[in-house]
Amino acid sequence: MKCLSLSFLTNFLIMNYLFAQYQPVIVIHGGAGTIRKADMPPEKEKEVHEALAKALRIGYQTLENGGTSLDAVEQTIIFLENHPLFNAGVGSVLNNKAQPELDASIMNGATLEAGAVAGVSRIKQPISAAKLVMQKSPHVFMIGKGAEQFAKEQGLEMVKPNYFITPEQINQLKKLQKRLKDQKKNQKASLSPNQEIGKFGTVGCVALDKAGNLAAGTSTGGMINKRYGRVGDAPIIGAGTYADNNSCAVSATGHGEYFIRANVAFRIAALKTMQNLSLQQAAQQALDLVQKLGGSGGVIALDREGNIAMPFNTDGMYRGYIDKNKRMETLLYK
Ligand code: ASP
Repeated sequence: MKCLSLSFLTNFLIMNYLFAQYQPVIVIHGGAGTIRKADMPPEKEKEVHEALAKALRIGYQTLENGGTSLDAVEQTIIFLENHPLFNAGVGSVLNNKAQPELDASIMNGATLEAGAVAGVSRIKQPISAAKLVMQKSPHVFMIGKGAEQFAKEQGLEMVKPNYFITPEQINQLKKLQKRLKDQKKNQKASLSPNQEIGKFGTVGCVALDKAGNLAAGTSTGGMINKRYGRVGDAPIIGAGTYADNNSCAVSATGHGEYFIRANVAFRIAALKTMQNLSLQQAAQQALDLVQKLGGSGGVIALDREGNIAMPFNTDGMYRGYIDKNKRMETLLYK
């Protein structure tokens, strides 16, 4: 009798697990920084809202159709990489040699599998390369020419580095380099590039699918005027990206060096489970550490219950979500 009821219970649990339907949720960011309403031309504000809304709809559609959170994250980020408004793919900021060097990563919260690429400039969609590293190679992280060769072998579309460069980014870099030169001449203490420009612009996405699986992804051109060869937090699993079904999915944006040192994405996941904090508390605590170290930026985080956290310590952060009640919102400022 006991045995019978036990097997009934096991079957019940397995069926429940197999057919459990979660309400899909998607959250995105398009970078943090000195984003103030007072400085924002209305047309640009509209353009950003529209781009964020379109990105959300792309990812949400995938989830609604029963697609995986991984696919939703990839599809959403592909759209943002192709949009010149964001610091990822086309429109990426340039390094100190006026070249694009792109970083991206993705993580599967169901299996803790992850993939990343860094310092690439010929792969049209770096986020897809990160996903292929995860799914089609025995590795997690590939860089530079080796990553590009792998992406090409996997059939990804390849482009010339010029493809990513926009006139706006050339201007930004020239202006910044001139300012830094002038400051040096006047022997003024130089500001860090992000303080100078005041904007990041990396893109990220976290999603929950109907099967209850979380995923996270981040893609970026890095920091403007970064030294050739510099890698930020975006492609580093645990710093810029992390996903674990047992905790949460996180994507970060900000001054990468601080996010690496504070291991922000993993820290949020660890704080949530190990210290039993709410998602909001865990995300805020990790960001407080970044601030204490002298860094700025923000994160988006999502758990299996559909809780969303989007804290930042800058003036603004491009962000948006479609929550478990299908409510959509896109936001720019505090
Ligand atoms: N976190 C990125 C980096 O340091 C920059 C950004 O978020 O825009 O490379």
